[in-house]
Amino acid sequence: MTVQQVQSFAAGQWIVPGAGARPIRSAITGEVIAEAGGPLDPAAMIAFATEKGGPALRAMTFHDRAKMLKALALYLRERRQPLYDLSFHTGGTMADHRTDVDGGIGTMLVIASKGRREMPEGHVYLDGGVEQLSRNGTFLGQHICTPLQGVAIHINAFNFPIWGMLEKLAPTLLAGMPAIVKPATTSGYVAARAVEMMMDSGLLPEGAVQLVSGSAGGLLDHLGMQDVISFTGSAATADMLRGGVMGQGARFLAEQDSLNASILGPDALPGTPEFDLFIREATAEMTAKAGQKCTAIRRMIVPQDATEAVLDALKTNLAAITIGDPREKTTQMGALISTDQRDDVLAKAALIGAEAECVYSADAVPEDGAFMAPMLFHCADPDAAQTIHKTEAFGPVATVMGYRDLPHAITLANRGEGSLVTSLITHDTGVARDVALGIGSYHGRLYINDRTSMAEATGHGSPLPHMVHGGPGRAGGGEELGGIRGVMHYMQRTAVQASPDMLTAITGQWVPGAAEQTAPAHPFTRSFTDLQIGETLITDPRTVTLDDIEHFATFTGDTFYAHMDDAAAAANPFFPGRVAHGYLLLSFAAGLFVEPNVGPVLANTGLNTLRFQKPVSPGDAIHVRLTVRRKTRRTDTYGEVRWHVTLFNQDSDQVAEYELLTMNAY
Ligand code: NDP
Repeated sequence: MTVQQVQSFAAGQWIVPGAGARPIRSAITGEVIAEAGGPLDPAAMIAFATEKGGPALRAMTFHDRAKMLKALALYLRERRQPLYDLSFHTGGTMADHRTDVDGGIGTMLVIASKGRREMPEGHVYLDGGVEQLSRNGTFLGQHICTPLQGVAIHINAFNFPIWGMLEKLAPTLLAGMPAIVKPATTSGYVAARAVEMMMDSGLLPEGAVQLVSGSAGGLLDHLGMQDVISFTGSAATADMLRGGVMGQGARFLAEQDSLNASILGPDALPGTPEFDLFIREATAEMTAKAGQKCTAIRRMIVPQDATEAVLDALKTNLAAITIGDPREKTTQMGALISTDQRDDVLAKAALIGAEAECVYSADAVPEDGAFMAPMLFHCADPDAAQTIHKTEAFGPVATVMGYRDLPHAITLANRGEGSLVTSLITHDTGVARDVALGIGSYHGRLYINDRTSMAEATGHGSPLPHMVHGGPGRAGGGEELGGIRGVMHYMQRTAVQASPDMLTAITGQWVPGAAEQTAPAHPFTRSFTDLQIGETLITDPRTVTLDDIEHFATFTGDTFYAHMDDAAAAANPFFPGRVAHGYLLLSFAAGLFVEPNVGPVLANTGLNTLRFQKPVSPGDAIHVRLTVRRKTRRTDTYGEVRWHVTLFNQDSDQVAEYELLTMNAY
């Protein structure tokens, strides 16, 4: 068998392994299948990222980068078969590869889509709204986020070479930061193949992504305060690396060991759909990826009276799992990544065995490679036990423990001192509330499932790109994903205090108080391209009469007393007497600013942040200020225009304000 030379991609060059390269063995045959590593020039790699990749990425808008990510994900999806084929040597089954490869591509697509929908078509991301810092509005505040100007070093664990890489690359590149990816050596050949594809795609700017296959060398010694290290792996490595870079100012995000738990609710006893659901999820978490998942269930916390039933059901399920060569279609659980990893898991299981009884372990597993049978433990005294709450055996190993009552279950769940995820299987909303309040601060994700959600629920072990992945304490304290939250790790938030004109220039979004431009024609007659930020239409006034109010009330059926009964309205602290409906004002506003002929405005798609600020009484005259606030291209033919709309009365008091959304042709 040829030994694959796993190359690095450094400073624009593919580099074959050299002195100090490490052999990599197949998890299923034990043969050496690849080698990786060798001297690289870390300073040159960092310079390449920061001098080429960073500026090129930052020159693109968030939308350009989101489109690039989407194209990259689709490119990989077209070519994923070789990634599956290679992945068998990591020990995983086809189902495991789909989680890794398809899951990673899907994550990239979601982040790309969120980038298009939730980030501006520009270079500055706004965090929150404008803060009024002065009485007259000449001095305002706005938090902005801009990309860090260094490099992100992604140090990944062995278990998900593709998902682990893409879930970090997507938010990093969307932020506008270049990355150097350092996969775990034992499965890095799969990641390297995907990086090769990404480079072949021609979709990435030069310097945006580099790859270290094998040891990281002195890469971390060269980092500073504009850099980020995003680490997934063991707590021991995280602590060592964190200590090493302390003082250099680089951000350090860690996802490390996690004693994830699953709680069976007191209501979810044998015979309920929830009991069966718990057993299904627990079995899947022990055996998928042979238990080598950062989110796998390590501790099962179940009602004391149901302990025997849980153990029996799990033993039956585990005995039915086919363990063997993952290339066989009938195999349900493959091998661990390496014999070293298996030895580590067995050593940790031995520690757990000092406090808990091993109630299930099959003996017939293939001898070659790194196979092991699932091991199920029962701990009779989880209060006195220490090791079961501290030891992560990163394989198909879990411990069942009984609880007396819900507070006891909560105490046991929190004894893990921080996890990525804890699940609760219950049909009782009161239990869900008590557990959420009792354990929330200890766990990064809380997964609650019952008969209502089980057909669509995504599984205890699946981190979703929309939701935060990470956890406090033992889990490392880092956060990843969570939609745009994950992008923020690669950006700096800055509080900008300035005049409205300054803020408008910086953010590309018109701020009330900034200069208004008089349009050469009605803005509804001007194309998306022609419209300028700050372009403003001031309408003629319209007097609101009592007849208008009564007509609107009877026409719509909204005969609320504030519009119809003068005495009742006057008794209300908000109104001087009968007032116009807010919706009538909105309709009159549209009547004042709309240009009726066919033109570039295609559709009105909504209103945001509507506020009625002052009542309008019969006889008041309202006029409207309509200003182009922000423009975003949506398709090849049209884009979204956000208009700032303000209604004033005859005394120039603001009576209503909102953001209007329209789609306008280019
Ligand atoms: P490690 O901590 O051994 O390695 C993680 C990553 O760190 C690998 O890419 C590794 O590279 C790299 N690394 C190790 N030493 C250095 C160094 N000095 N400088 C730079 N990079 C370094 O974890 P594993 O991947 O081997 O996984 C083992 C354990 O990690 C599991 O048993 C489990 O406890 C935990 N884990 C936790 C996860 C989580 O999210 N909670 C996920 C996966 C694993 P190399 O491979 O080249 O040594």
